[in-house]
Amino acid sequence: MKFERAQKGGWSYYRVPELEAAGILHGFFTRASPYVEPHGKDGKAFLDAFALRRFVVMDQEHGDAIHVIRDGERPKSGDGIIIIEKDVAGVIKTADCLPIIIAAPGLPVAGIVHAGWRGTAAKITRKAVQKMAELGAEREGLIALMGPSIGPCCYEVKEDVSGIFRNEGFPDRIFREDGGATYLDIREANRELLRREGIKNIYDAGLCTYCSGGLFASYRRGERGSRQINFVSLKG
Ligand SMILES: [Zn+2]
Repeated sequence: MKFERAQKGGWSYYRVPELEAAGILHGFFTRASPYVEPHGKDGKAFLDAFALRRFVVMDQEHGDAIHVIRDGERPKSGDGIIIIEKDVAGVIKTADCLPIIIAAPGLPVAGIVHAGWRGTAAKITRKAVQKMAELGAEREGLIALMGPSIGPCCYEVKEDVSGIFRNEGFPDRIFREDGGATYLDIREANRELLRREGIKNIYDAGLCTYCSGGLFASYRRGERGSRQINFVSLKG
């Protein structure tokens, strides 16, 4: 499976066409796309553009809370969303953190996770897989997509952060050492969590938000207020 760039009206995003063909509508947006707020006009435009009934977007806390969305539920805060109803989108906002979509083709369940370093160290991705398994998804059939995030090329971390990962049992290969500095590979850390859960189908967009020539908003590059959205939903 390969990521490709797509455009729908003013919405520019990356997607995996085979997954969309399998009924899992999804996108990792570039910063050129409008930003979605719960009640703003772009929210309506987003619903119209992707033929959605509604979307769920939360205050993200860099924690590990995951919500299964049922019966019009709108959780206020958390970092993972699991969709079980058709035409409802789970939206995650990012600006360096890693958005991960977990799909279960053929089953009415799909997840999306906001995995920054804190959420990754708290193993939010593992929790998302476990919740999806509780809802009937078989691990071998799951497909994980890792969207744009800050890459190991640019994500320098200090001892405080790398120490937490080592204490949590992450392998050394999630770090890259260069010129006395340590760089964190947040995608490899999440790949490790997914593999430990038995997920074999993991696809990485390979896009770094920091050094992608301004295609994406990057917190580390100093864009504190700007973010892009990522979503997953089940086609009706
Ligand atoms: Zn980079």
